[in-house]
Amino acid sequence: MAKIPKFIILLYHKIGKYPQNSKFPGLYVEERDFARQIKYLSDAGYAFLTLSELKILYDFYYKDGYKGGGGVGVINDENKRHNKSALNNLTGLINERKRYAAITFDDGSKSVYSGGLKILEDEGAKATVFMVSGLIGGMNEWDIKNGENGDEMLNALELKEMAKLGVEIGAHTVTHPHLTRLSADEAYAEISSSKKALEDLLGADVNFFAYPYGDYNETVKELVEKCGFYGACITKTGIVKKGADFFALKRVAIRHNTDLFKFKRKICKVGLFY
Ligand SMILES: [Zn+2]
Repeated sequence: MAKIPKFIILLYHKIGKYPQNSKFPGLYVEERDFARQIKYLSDAGYAFLTLSELKILYDFYYKDGYKGGGGVGVINDENKRHNKSALNNLTGLINERKRYAAITFDDGSKSVYSGGLKILEDEGAKATVFMVSGLIGGMNEWDIKNGENGDEMLNALELKEMAKLGVEIGAHTVTHPHLTRLSADEAYAEISSSKKALEDLLGADVNFFAYPYGDYNETVKELVEKCGFYGACITKTGIVKKGADFFALKRVAIRHNTDLFKFKRKICKVGLFY
């Protein structure tokens, strides 16, 4: 029987040791732990994908009648040519162990650049960063309001450099609100303006979105789709399997206390039960 492809999206926030007085230590993962986790995935035969690559491979396996060869995943007509060439670049990843991991970082903390990038590069691992577009080069204002320590955000130069190195930049609204608490117009502005601001900065399409706090409903989902995104991530636990809702992509959250043993268990469990 052909092996079923397994797509796992991991969720991180900040790379580094959490400050003693941090209100949300779970958002931190120490560099040492992060490096071990990436190495483990690499050794276990996972290929690392950005989310746009994951979408192309997912379509290839599940939407185009994959029968062990042939079939090209396309997103839509305008992107047909682009994705054909993208898939060609991904063919090295097809027909191997069919284990795929997409590393995602929500918010756009500078620590991803200062602490995470080198580790990703060492393992040749790709990633996606969901940036709060109104706080580029600023601080984590939404967290500070909730009593958390100040944390510097990525600046424009760092975002551009990461994009150049193959990190995908996704949108995470302008100010990091609970989208379901806003009017539809306000939510639409938060979603579409963050996409546009990042596209203007990077000179490239921004294809994926993550809901702040994992907070979404049907209206919010429709707004994200209307803005032209290919998909959006939530914070519920799970893997991306056949029939997955691309506007509610489940992930596996990694926290400050996720040691390698727990990490392996999470990865294993999520593959079996979700
Ligand atoms: Zn967030």
